Amino acid sequence: MSDFARYSRQIVLREVGVNGQQLLRDSSALVIGVGGLGSAAALYLAGAGLGRLLLSDRDRVEPSNLQRQILYRGGDIGRAKLDAAADTLRALNPETVIELLPGPLDGAALAAAVQAADIVLDCSDNFPTRAALNAVCVAARKPLVSGAAIRFEGQLALFDAARGSACYACLYPNPDDGDSGMPAGEAQETCEEAGVLGPTVGVVGSLQALLAIKHLLGLGQDAGQLHVWDALRMSWRKMAVPRDPYCRVCGTQAQRGPDE
Ligand SMILES: [Zn+2]
Repeated sequence: MSDFARYSRQIVLREVGVNGQQLLRDSSALVIGVGGLGSAAALYLAGAGLGRLLLSDRDRVEPSNLQRQILYRGGDIGRAKLDAAADTLRALNPETVIELLPGPLDGAALAAAVQAADIVLDCSDNFPTRAALNAVCVAARKPLVSGAAIRFEGQLALFDAARGSACYACLYPNPDDGDSGMPAGEAQETCEEAGVLGPTVGVVGSLQALLAIKHLLGLGQDAGQLHVWDALRMSWRKMAVPRDPYCRVCGTQAQRGPDE
């Protein structure tokens, strides 16, 4: 351990300890999307001392991002998000190796990126990316931490195909009918149209990092649980997501592969 003091507040936790810290150092995470969710998640993962962070995004920093995308500063406007994110994360923790994967990733590139990581965080903002990422994670048996936030509602879930949990498509089986992966009923709306407060996104992104860290440390039984947050009422709901035997991605009865 080259920097014990840096991680002392988590090493002191009985559930983490020196061995847990070494586990994190030996681990890697793929973060798809470094917007609002990905900013919070990546900062906490780097802070925790993950060995390697793989980041993917396609966008440049815009003024409207700065309200919630806390990886970026005013001086970053116009820069590629990946370059600006790497600078921030390396400044925070030079021990975490940052790898940049310019997006959008699809096909073999997406499969290779997923294969290269121990856990995947879906911090994207659109359904096609969410669906493709879920299918690749199921096929590769990689844990996936899904998150979304819009208006005053957030949700997140850990899906772990290797442990037989439900997958993202079990939860949202009919994307064409308006199940966008946003909180219930939000259809294909985006934060640009519907709005969102920065901290709402930050809460979900932070908890995506928490679920990832817990999973890497073998703590808790989070897989297959959907957490929904109402930011106006400040209330959480937690519900089990049953695995759908006819799921088009992970179903055992559907007799169809994840690429169909
Ligand atoms: Zn499924």
